[in-house]
Amino acid sequence: MSAQDAAVQERARAFVDEELIPWEVQAELADGELPPEVLERHTRKARELGFGAINMPVELGGDGLTMFQQALVQEQIGRVTNALGWVVHTPAGWLPRVATDHQLETWVKPTIRGERMECYAITEEGAGSDVDAIEATARREGDEYVLTGEKWHVTSANLADHVFFQAKLAGGSDAGSHALFVVDMDTPGVRVVRTPAYTHTLAHHHPILAFDDVRVPGANLIGTEGDGMRFVHEWFRYERLMIAARCCGAAERLITEATAFARSRDAFGHPISEFQAVQFMLADSLTELWAARLITYRTARGIDDGIDLKSQHAQCSLAKLYASEMANRVADRAVQIFGGRGYMRENVAERFYRELRVERIWEGTSEIQRVIIADQLLKRGVQALLDQ
Ligand SMILES: Cc1cc2nc3c(=O)[nH]c(=O)nc-3n(C[C@H](O)[C@H](O)[C@H](O)COP(=O)(O)OP(=O)(O)OC[C@H]3O[C@@H](n4cnc5c(N)ncnc54)[C@H](O)[C@@H]3O)c2cc1C
Repeated sequence: MSAQDAAVQERARAFVDEELIPWEVQAELADGELPPEVLERHTRKARELGFGAINMPVELGGDGLTMFQQALVQEQIGRVTNALGWVVHTPAGWLPRVATDHQLETWVKPTIRGERMECYAITEEGAGSDVDAIEATARREGDEYVLTGEKWHVTSANLADHVFFQAKLAGGSDAGSHALFVVDMDTPGVRVVRTPAYTHTLAHHHPILAFDDVRVPGANLIGTEGDGMRFVHEWFRYERLMIAARCCGAAERLITEATAFARSRDAFGHPISEFQAVQFMLADSLTELWAARLITYRTARGIDDGIDLKSQHAQCSLAKLYASEMANRVADRAVQIFGGRGYMRENVAERFYRELRVERIWEGTSEIQRVIIADQLLKRGVQALLDQ
């Protein structure tokens, strides 16, 4: 780690420890919400520290961190529950390369400045892992597109002011292929169907959104017709690696807290840390965390070094698969070590036990990550994937 990398990591760690962690329990007990002035302070502080748009180029006003530095920051924000770390913003990193000047000025730059916020509408009731099964359509009418469909689990839609909407083209020479649009949330026809409750307690909700014949200008098409899936893959790669990093942070926090508790909790006249059954849970957790961290760091560095895209894709899946499954095992053990306290919402292990479950599901389930890894292994062999 260079001195610059270490400084980025230290800034993120101090921010999480001093500003965010103290608010976790209050957020948990208030449906994930913080007092507005506290949220405003967290947001401002994150920007002051250089974490306003960590993945965006400096030329556009972003923080321009390397992939490795981004993983270090995400690892730290993974140490806090209730998504309080999401004030560290990562706008659509793939967008500047394909955005038109109009799109850069209207959505990209204001989002980097923290004035706008995006959400993603890809998944549908009948299409999750199988993205190609989406039924949403985009029909060209003159200079406009008419967008129709219903999207599920749209994270942050309650806070966002624009949404990336994926659809299949209806009609035209590219009929049936995917296209991605940016849609302002206040466009007529965009409607919240309902906001289901989920396992975790976050201020960011995941509503079901309907798009009822939503008319958008042709200028809202991102890239060209048929480009939709390419962007989704790029986003998935990035998010999978960052999930891995956050899971490492969560596991580190859990092991630290469970170790401290095990030292201080007496049973049968001894601290429970003296019982081998408890020691083994901690030892297994630390061993697995180290493995996950090495995979995550190495994958991030490989991307900075420009390894080929297919290897990046497989390695990001590998990192997400291992780190998310690892963090869930660690959370389960931490709850066990805390005993009855581990079942109380005011306890960090209880919150992580619920929150980490989704890391094995979103941005591609663990099964889908295995499908991707196995596909690349069978096509290219072990060395092509691991020796990069
Ligand atoms: C809290 C939350 C937030 C989300 N946020 C967003 C968002 O912002 N935007 C968005 O578009 N989506 C979002 N999603 C959707 C998420 O990406 C999907 O839930 C996920 O990709 C899985 O799709 P599915 O739920 O339809 O499950 P399915 O695809 O129906 O899968 C069900 C089960 O079948 C298994 N399975 C499916 N195919 C295979 C296969 N080929 N081999 C082996 N097993 C298989 C899966 O692994 C899983 O166990 C979110 C989901 C959640 C829970």
